[in-house]
Amino acid sequence: MSEWRIPLTDLNYGREEEEAVLRVLRSGWISMGPEVLAFEQEVAEFQGVKHVFAVANGTVGLHLALLALRIDRGDEIIQPALNFVAAANMTVAIGARPVFADIISLDEPTIDPTHVEQLITARTKAIIVMHYGGYLCHMRHLLEICRKHKLHLIEDACHAIGAAYDETTMAGSIGDIGAFSFFSNKNLATGEGGMVVTGRYDLAERVRLLRSHGMSTLTWDRYKGYANTYDVLVQGYNYRLDEIHAALGREQLRKLSPGNHRRAELTRLYRKLLSNLPGWNIPFANRNTSSAFHLMSVVAPHATARDNAVESLRQQKIQTSLHYPCITGFSGFSGYKQSLVPKSQAFAARVITLPLHPKMYDSAVEQVASALLRVANSSS
Ligand SMILES: *Cc1c(COP(=O)(O)O)cnc(C)c1O
Repeated sequence: MSEWRIPLTDLNYGREEEEAVLRVLRSGWISMGPEVLAFEQEVAEFQGVKHVFAVANGTVGLHLALLALRIDRGDEIIQPALNFVAAANMTVAIGARPVFADIISLDEPTIDPTHVEQLITARTKAIIVMHYGGYLCHMRHLLEICRKHKLHLIEDACHAIGAAYDETTMAGSIGDIGAFSFFSNKNLATGEGGMVVTGRYDLAERVRLLRSHGMSTLTWDRYKGYANTYDVLVQGYNYRLDEIHAALGREQLRKLSPGNHRRAELTRLYRKLLSNLPGWNIPFANRNTSSAFHLMSVVAPHATARDNAVESLRQQKIQTSLHYPCITGFSGFSGYKQSLVPKSQAFAARVITLPLHPKMYDSAVEQVASALLRVANSSS
């Protein structure tokens, strides 16, 4: 498929992943079992969080987070307009109403705490934050707002695995409950897969049940002789992960910190080379910590300059992407436009995501940067 000379992203896979899959195939047990349990334990240690549940993907992780918090029909959930659509879709799926907040600025495209506070009503139950590009949101301010107004805080941490908040807390474990995705373009990739993390025992027990039909025991428990039968305690789902994906996840977890470190180096190189792009913004330009460096984004002076740059890079076989179209602009969300989000709209019209992955060479970053400098200087 790929004709790209420089692809947007690439798997950080090798012999380790191949052997991990073979280990599972030869074990004779492929549904949720020891690999999943080991993966959960390793992520729990890495995160420094008590309760960790492997799930089928990030989207169902967000669904479980909302269900665990008992978000109900008619509840309002404030969340970013600039996000992948999964959180908004799951909000609607449980009958709640998404209320879209704007970003802070083009340089800081995470949810604006001041706007969040303005959107709070008597029906607001929770805030979903998303650490855009792997860069942490303004969590101190957001936590304070949640405490003051008694709101739950959910982290869509799909970009941010490995980003540290402070000495003991990682992205995903800052609020009440968080979700990660292990989709193939994420920093930890298993194809499909995800994780729900929480420090709260009450939420953990809900997630454990809802992940597997509301059943009190797992097939694995019965196979091991730990249980003979089961009760169904609540109406749940099948959102489990399987052994093959968990085995891939364990190998990927070992590569996560060095991978994120390499992403940070490449990001610094991009920032240096692009520091005098005329009229462009480089989001998070001064942030060297509190990030998983998932995305390298640049913001053009206007939409036409962005479109020209994307087309020019495409012709040079450099793949780019758009994270994200503004959710309030989607037809399926036309009934939910309660608030204005001009900065998210401007960002979505002007942003480009450039290639970034741990296996990328410095020389590829140099080629992307000079291609971008050429087109930016010629059209400004
Ligand atoms: C990838 C992603 C999701 C969805 O995860 P899936 O595993 O694809 O379901 C949700 N939110 C954000 C911010 C993402 O990047």
